[in-house]
Amino acid sequence: MDYIRVRAHGKINLALDVLRKREDGYHEVRMIMQSVGLYDNIEIVNLGQSGTGKPEIDIETNLRYLPNNENNLAYKAAMLLMEEFYISAHIAIRIKKMIPVAAGMAGGSADAAAVMKGVNRLFGLRLSNEELKKRGVTLGADIPYCIDGGTALSEGIGEILTPLPPMPPCIILLVKPPINVSTKLVYGKLDAGNIEYHPDIDGMIDAIKAGNLEDMASRLGNVLQTVTETEYPIITEIKDIMLKMGALNSMMSGSGPTVFGIFNDREKAKEAYNFFKSSDLGRQVYLTDGGNGDERY
Ligand code: ATP
Repeated sequence: MDYIRVRAHGKINLALDVLRKREDGYHEVRMIMQSVGLYDNIEIVNLGQSGTGKPEIDIETNLRYLPNNENNLAYKAAMLLMEEFYISAHIAIRIKKMIPVAAGMAGGSADAAAVMKGVNRLFGLRLSNEELKKRGVTLGADIPYCIDGGTALSEGIGEILTPLPPMPPCIILLVKPPINVSTKLVYGKLDAGNIEYHPDIDGMIDAIKAGNLEDMASRLGNVLQTVTETEYPIITEIKDIMLKMGALNSMMSGSGPTVFGIFNDREKAKEAYNFFKSSDLGRQVYLTDGGNGDERY
């Protein structure tokens, strides 16, 4: 095999809680992760033996501002496996980015996870998902989740995963406002010992297990939202409009700034999509679903 194509799905957090800050600086989290239909397309091409006897990796992306060198998470993910298994090939990784960048949707981690799966298949390494996850977590806390995708409870720093049944069917509106938010900065500003309101993660798990969309939506919660919202009122504005336009609920994903709305009515979701498409509030606006499908509305 000399070519493989993989999809890297973005995620939203249906719930995000921070339990404490550990001595090593990492935050202990409890999150409900959900894949969305929006994905980056990744092609990995084996160009043959490298001239140097070591792995050689070219990165091409459709976004000028993304690193196309060893700083790209896709590069790191491929290199990690190729070095460990002494694969001295020259490969090209072509990334067509659709997931908003630095937006709280784990786009980089999704690419890294997809590349690990792709390299695993391309070179017949036969590593299980569990084995890929162990390696992936050394590059980023969200990568183990991205290897499996779907709906999952994520604990520890993100490496302890419990699969959940798929979220009840719904329509998800994603709006990334025209601002950039640093994940590091948001976590830096969070006073982990003094969080007033913790989302009811167990209640949400019950709602998902019961397949109750309304109950699930009513329990959306993200302790990082207050931090980001205080700096960027545009997030509150987007949420309010989504609710007015018929979303069951709306919340910021991860450290933001992407805001998502959960809809059970396709017409209302479309109207809201059209509104944001033609307003300055959203730089990237997508209508998608929860899951790994690529259904377009
Ligand atoms: P998270 O939800 O995990 O906090 P995020 O959505 O905030 O992630 P990413 O889109 O993963 O952030 O990107 C964060 C940074 O990583 C960007 O500034 C980008 O330059 C860098 N990066 C490296 N490789 C990639 C990649 N393949 N895709 C996107 N960003 C990448």
